[in-house]
Amino acid sequence: MNRLQALPSRRPYCVTLNPWPHHPPRGEIAAFDDTHPMYSFESMNTQNALPSLNGRHRSWFCGAYFGYGFHEDGIRSAVQVTRQFGWDL
Ligand SMILES: Cc1cc2nc3c(=O)[nH]c(=O)nc-3n(C[C@H](O)[C@H](O)[C@H](O)COP(=O)(O)OP(=O)(O)OC[C@H]3O[C@@H](n4cnc5c(N)ncnc54)[C@H](O)[C@@H]3O)c2cc1C
Repeated sequence: MNRLQALPSRRPYCVTLNPWPHHPPRGEIAAFDDTHPMYSFESMNTQNALPSLNGRHRSWFCGAYFGYGFHEDGIRSAVQVTRQFGWDL
């Protein structure tokens, strides 16, 4: 995290998604229960139709769920929405 967030510290900070089933490591700062989207064949089959929802009822949609669930997918879908507004980022 030090490099990713440009933390001004010599102490190394790490983040992991892995569980600690037996005991947490020494120095643990925080632990969170979090969820992540789960994709199924059914949900992936609907993804191509998602952009067709945009513009109906003056509503537009974007998010990581337009793709594989990563930051890039959220950005890509957001840029597509801005193009429908006539903006090219
Ligand atoms: C622990 C963890 C680690 C991750 N690491 C990575 C990584 O290293 N690289 C990567 O590319 N991706 C990573 N991801 C995935 C990435 O965080 C998500 O893909 C991304 O944040 C999704 O962005 P989003 O804008 O689509 O949705 P979100 O970030 O979930 O934003 C949705 C927003 O809508 C709000 N909201 C929900 N319901 C309503 C409502 N009814 N009314 C108003 N607001 C509402 C929520 O509060 C939230 O702020 C990680 C995810 C998790 C959980």
